[in-house]
Amino acid sequence: MKKALIIAVLAGCGAVLSSQPKADYPAVPVPFTDVHLSDAFWAPRLETNRAVTIPHILRQLEESRRVENFQRAAIAMASHAEGQFCSLYPFDDSDVYKTIEAASYALATRPDPALSKQLDALIAKIAASQEPDGYLYTARTIGGPPPQPWVGKERWSYLYMSHELYNVGHLYEAAAAHVQATGQRNLLDIAVKSANLVAKEFGPGRRTNPPGHEEIEIGLVKLYRATGDVKYLDLAKFFIDARGRTEGRIPYDRDGKTELLYGQYAQDDKPFVDQTEAVGHAVRAGYLYAGAADVAALRQDRAYVAALERIWADVVGKKLYITGGIGAEGEWEGYGPAYRLPNETAYAETCANIATFLWNSRMLRLGLDAKYADVMERILYNGVLSGLSLSGDRFFYPNPLASSGKHQRTPWFKCACCPPNVARVLTSVPGYFYAASNDSVYVNLYAQGAATLSVNGTPLRLRQQTEYPWKGEIAIEVEPARPLAFGLHVRVPGWAQNRPVPSDLYSYVGPPAGTPTLRVNGEQVTPPIEKGYAVIARTWKAGDRVELSLPMPVRRVAANPAVEDDRGRVAIERGPLVYCLEGPDNGGEVATRVLPDAAVLTPEARPDLLNGVVVIKAAGEAPGLTLIPYYAWANRGASNMEVWIKRQ
Ligand SMILES: [Zn+2]
Repeated sequence: MKKALIIAVLAGCGAVLSSQPKADYPAVPVPFTDVHLSDAFWAPRLETNRAVTIPHILRQLEESRRVENFQRAAIAMASHAEGQFCSLYPFDDSDVYKTIEAASYALATRPDPALSKQLDALIAKIAASQEPDGYLYTARTIGGPPPQPWVGKERWSYLYMSHELYNVGHLYEAAAAHVQATGQRNLLDIAVKSANLVAKEFGPGRRTNPPGHEEIEIGLVKLYRATGDVKYLDLAKFFIDARGRTEGRIPYDRDGKTELLYGQYAQDDKPFVDQTEAVGHAVRAGYLYAGAADVAALRQDRAYVAALERIWADVVGKKLYITGGIGAEGEWEGYGPAYRLPNETAYAETCANIATFLWNSRMLRLGLDAKYADVMERILYNGVLSGLSLSGDRFFYPNPLASSGKHQRTPWFKCACCPPNVARVLTSVPGYFYAASNDSVYVNLYAQGAATLSVNGTPLRLRQQTEYPWKGEIAIEVEPARPLAFGLHVRVPGWAQNRPVPSDLYSYVGPPAGTPTLRVNGEQVTPPIEKGYAVIARTWKAGDRVELSLPMPVRRVAANPAVEDDRGRVAIERGPLVYCLEGPDNGGEVATRVLPDAAVLTPEARPDLLNGVVVIKAAGEAPGLTLIPYYAWANRGASNMEVWIKRQ
């Protein structure tokens, strides 16, 4: 069903509390359904995700009895008898929703009647588990002994940890994806019924406790976009504004103490607009910041933007692993203090890296500054891809930067948030490549393929030819339906401008690597660089061709001396990829290896290795060392690994 029709169906449903926003992000991403990647790097990964990862996760949802929880909830309601929740965590419901989101994205790009039927069967089970007033949380509907002691009997009674609002946030995201992919509203109806109940229970003068685990904010904005009902957007803003404020809160018991706020762990120690640092559980934090960026765009909220920019500067300046990993502390799965970035014990949960990727994609649309794309690209190619095996059916939860052989990807986890998260990001990855406004087109990421979009109503086709990320030559063919004036914003990555990250947290060692060059129809041009983009403004006609050449030598990176764990060490990068030393290429042992500054480092294409990679060979003072892309480690069994290598 198309959006206009959905709006018509829902008109008159619920009181309108505020006006429809007139504003939005200044640039709209070109949806993943309109971007086709045909390259050797992403296209096979997307196919593995569709053919292996999503079916694998769907099987795991059944085998781990997450799906059965929905059936048990339906039985408990029909029989008026308590049952028994049959997996481990009350947030297990959310894994089912996230998988439906991933599968819906797959359906949107490629019809698959069998998968579609499978989703409909799942959705029918979810519908049957929903209480008549819209409440949806199987752990409570089933009744019986709670899966965890912190799930109370009463609805909304322990939001600090219950995840009941977190779960439905993922439901709303899944519903928005599913209706977009299939035109069917079977899941959207469930989401709307749930969100209407939440909107009735929570708000000014009613319940004011925000969710302990953020996510519903992102989901509510997507539900607003899918239905046009502004009350969902208002509720998202209400939950964000409720953080760090005690007014109207129902107290809860934490370890025998009565509390109102949830503290730093849940970004609830002070109001969001007063927050200055990234703290606490990193997935919670990332989803809060992403949701706040959505609301900031739709409500033109400058206080939100200011808070987001402060927090972003704190992350990128002091708390970001070179791999784009987020979260130094396993104890609370989250941010540590400034500059504390241990390598072997790094948490860098796949979901935290993804949440921060999603947040940066929104900051990019909000600020139209390529520094956000630099962070996105670093996270995507390194910290997100490392979460998934090359085979597509093994996963990492933490993504450490060093290993003494104890880390192994596994097919599933008892706490299984990461696998469906990586699946939903991979299926939608083409949607992060391009964006457009009325007079500008933004090229944010590089891979061979084609995109169709429109600028001021005129259809436009863009075609990239490149072997990125292995080579830095990129040709972009511009094909408007008729001659068309607009500014083509071509991202010149920070790494090609001698700046690995937009902060002083990391810097390249040695002389600059050469200058990126641009040609338009064969002629070299030097357009102004605005916010990290080379802006080529002209009247484009079919057949115009832009060539960007990014020098891609092997670079040594040093961390800010304040990062104790990286002192006296270097990391190796080439283009957007971070490299590592792994046991199988280096005689088993890597922790004691030394890479002196004088050692010569040379890239070497190895189509036979790890599905085809460019390795880096050391010669001269460190003969025999071979580095592989970080994302590809741990695909040959358990082994030692090191990103930060001793310089002497
Ligand atoms: Zn996770």
